[in-house]
Amino acid sequence: MFIPKRVIFENDALNYPLGEELLERFKSNSDIEIMYSKNGRITGIPGTNPSEKYLESKSTLVVGVRKTLDFQSCKPSAHYQLPLVSGCMGMCEYCYLNTQMGKKPYIKIHVNIEEILEKAQKYINERLPEITIFEGAATSDPVPVEGYTGALRTAIEYFGENTNSKFRFVTKYNDIDGLLNLKHNGRTTIRFSINASEVIRKFEHNTSLLDDRLDAALKVSNAGYPLGFIIAPVFLYDSWKEDYNILMDKIDKLFIGKNLMFEVISHRFTKRAKDNILSIYPKSLLPMEEEIRKFKYGQFGYGKYVYKDEELKNMKEFFKERITKSFGEGAINYII
Ligand code: SF4
Repeated sequence: MFIPKRVIFENDALNYPLGEELLERFKSNSDIEIMYSKNGRITGIPGTNPSEKYLESKSTLVVGVRKTLDFQSCKPSAHYQLPLVSGCMGMCEYCYLNTQMGKKPYIKIHVNIEEILEKAQKYINERLPEITIFEGAATSDPVPVEGYTGALRTAIEYFGENTNSKFRFVTKYNDIDGLLNLKHNGRTTIRFSINASEVIRKFEHNTSLLDDRLDAALKVSNAGYPLGFIIAPVFLYDSWKEDYNILMDKIDKLFIGKNLMFEVISHRFTKRAKDNILSIYPKSLLPMEEEIRKFKYGQFGYGKYVYKDEELKNMKEFFKERITKSFGEGAINYII
């Protein structure tokens, strides 16, 4: 669970029972600094350079109200983002949030969960009789702050009763026991983002260990939730096959016979992401040499550096074979 160094309350948040309750809760811990934002602007997070600002922001929790109730689209995996949380306590060096969230990537929770779900219902109604899928982790990992908000729990039970919608989220954390006994009715898919232990150790700071994530995934599956694994980003280094074989062996051992879905994504980066990452982690060991990658134009107009065709072909064959052998070809959502 995320224990912040400071919590900033937006004034409006204190008009909601959850906001008041959280104020009392954090006040009782003298190690946590409490601050207030009168105008909704988040200021006062210290730091004199990008790394310090990043670290201090990653220790900052903002308790606010989600005012814009228009949801962003979330193609291709879902129809809409469900804006329960933004930001993440994790410090994965490659994280897309490093580029998306600006220089102060604090974690923000919203206390008006009911209003957010009312808006979700409007989106569901607009698409009837089609099923509308909501993604709960598009701009965050919501699990480490679940103990403060109960937002996942509320959303899971809400969508569990709503036959015209589905919910999904992804996490790198194992703190999911509070979700196991909910009435989800199989309408929430929980995905665990996993990687070779070596990759987790080097690049995914402040996240749960691989074995802990796998144990949590097993609990989730035993609780009847549809379960998926996102293996990403896959790095192709000297011993990548050995390391990803160990990962796949662990999955085989724990999950054989279960229904799983896999998404496998090779590492890629943009020039902008590289610059941002190096401003925060100047000594990063992330492999980001443009010269040994292939440049590919993305669908949004900017280019990215991907692995070369032959390397990608090898990687795709490897995962296709490993997943198909144990779980069938139908368990592969995509490998890119
Ligand atoms: Fe980003 Fe996910 Fe890592 Fe959090 S856990 S820093 S959202 S990659």
